[in-house]
Amino acid sequence: DRIAEVDGGARGVHAFLHVNAEEALAVAADVDARRAAGEELHELAGVPIAIKDLIVTKGQPTTAGSKILEGWMSPYDATVIKKIRDARMPMLGKTNLDEFAMGSSTEHSAYGPTRNPWDLDRIPGGSGGGSAAAVAAFEAPLALGTDTGGSIRQPGAVTGTVGVKPTYGAVSRYGAIAMASSLDQIGPVSRTVLDSALLQEVIGGHDPFDSTSLTDPSTGLADAARIGNVKGMKIGVIKELHGEGFQPGVENRFNESLELLRNAGAEIIEVSCPNFGYALGAYYLIMPSEASSNLAKFDGVRFGSRTLPADGPLTIERVMGATRAAGFGDEVKRRIILGTYALSAGYYDAYYGSAQKVRTLIQRDFDAAFAQVDVLISPTSPVTAFKLGEKLDDPLAMYLNDIATIPANMAGVPGLTLPGGLADEDGLPVGIQFLAPAREDARLYRVGAVLE
Ligand code: GLN
Repeated sequence: DRIAEVDGGARGVHAFLHVNAEEALAVAADVDARRAAGEELHELAGVPIAIKDLIVTKGQPTTAGSKILEGWMSPYDATVIKKIRDARMPMLGKTNLDEFAMGSSTEHSAYGPTRNPWDLDRIPGGSGGGSAAAVAAFEAPLALGTDTGGSIRQPGAVTGTVGVKPTYGAVSRYGAIAMASSLDQIGPVSRTVLDSALLQEVIGGHDPFDSTSLTDPSTGLADAARIGNVKGMKIGVIKELHGEGFQPGVENRFNESLELLRNAGAEIIEVSCPNFGYALGAYYLIMPSEASSNLAKFDGVRFGSRTLPADGPLTIERVMGATRAAGFGDEVKRRIILGTYALSAGYYDAYYGSAQKVRTLIQRDFDAAFAQVDVLISPTSPVTAFKLGEKLDDPLAMYLNDIATIPANMAGVPGLTLPGGLADEDGLPVGIQFLAPAREDARLYRVGAVLE
C-alpha cells in the first residue's frame, strides 16, 4: 500500500522498477502460518526487502536499469537471493539504478530517475538510488544494494539511510551482474545499524560459486551492533577526506559526530592517506576497463534483446553493433569506450597498469592508517543531494561525488554510512562513513551503533 501511495505518478519516488506484491504477500502469509504453528523462524523472517535490479532473481525481471535487458528473466537466483528466500523474507520487488550501476544519481537509468523522498526535485544518489529511496520513503524496511565505488554508501548518505559495503568477498557476488569484478560487492541498506548487521549475517558467508568469496562466515555482526561501544577505541580522521571541497553543512555535522564519539570515550586522531587523492583517477580507469570486458556479453547473441541494423547486410558484427548502439545508454557507452581504449595494446601499461600501482599505494595507505587506529572516519559524500539534472551533462562533476567512497573499494575494506543529521544550509541528510580493516566488518557495526 505504501509503494502504491508514494512510488508511482509523475512526481512519485519511483524507487521500484518491478513490484512483486503477490509473491511477497504469499511468503508473509506463510511465515504467519508457520509462526502460529509454533515453528522457530529466522529473526528476519517476514521482514520485507527490496532488491537492487542488478541482482538476478528467478520469477522476477532483471534489467540492470538498461534497455538491453528489458523483459529478461534470469533462469537462476543469485546466492544472496537464495539466502533471502531461505530466511523467508518477502521480496517486495526490484529497485531502480543507474544503467549497469554506472552513476551517482540514478539518472542514468533507462527507465527514468528515482526521486529523493526528502525533496522530490533532488537525486537519491546512485547507482543504488532506488534501494536507498525505497528505505527512506518507508516503502521497504530493508534493501540490497551493490557497491563498486560507493553505490550503497553515497545513496545512503543523501537519503539519510544506513548502508554497508562489506569486506570484498564477505558476501557472494554470484548472480550480481558484474560491473567491475574486482571492486563489486553486495551489501545491506536499512534504517538502523542493527538492521544492516542482521541482513549482512543473512546474505554473507562463503559461496563456492564465487571464486573470490572468503571462507570465513560473517558472524558476530548483530552482536557488535547490539554492544555499540567505542570506549578506548582509536578513530582516525582522514585528513584528505574532509575540509576543502566538502560542503560546510557536511563538515559541521562531521565535526559534531567527532565530538559525540569523543564524548562516548573514543580517542580521535588525525591520519594522512596521501594517495587517496589519486583514488578517483585510478578508479575511473580500472572500473571502465573491467566493465568493458564484463559488458561484452551483451551483444544480442549471448545476452540482450537483439536490434537489427536498419539496412545493409546482416553480418554478425553489424547485428552486434546495432544491438549495442540501441541497447546501451550514453554513460555505458562512454565507459566501454574508455575501458577498451585503456586496455588496448600499447596503452595497457600506461593506463591500466599505472592505475593498478596506485591501487597498491592506496592499500598501503590503509595499512599504515590501521596500524595507528581501529577505524577511520570521513563524511560519506562531499555534498548533500543535488538537484535532478544538475550534473547530468558533466561526467566529471558526477564522478567527484565518489571521492570519499572509492578508496574502500580499491582496497577491499568494509565501509558503513549512517545518517549524521541534516545540513544547516539546505536541511538535507548528511552521511558519516566508517571504514575498517578487511574482515573487521563487526567493528563497523559496533562503532556505528554508538553514533546512531
Ligand atoms: N558512482 C560510481 C560509478 O559511477 C560507483 C558506482 C557503483 O558503486 N556501482 O562508477
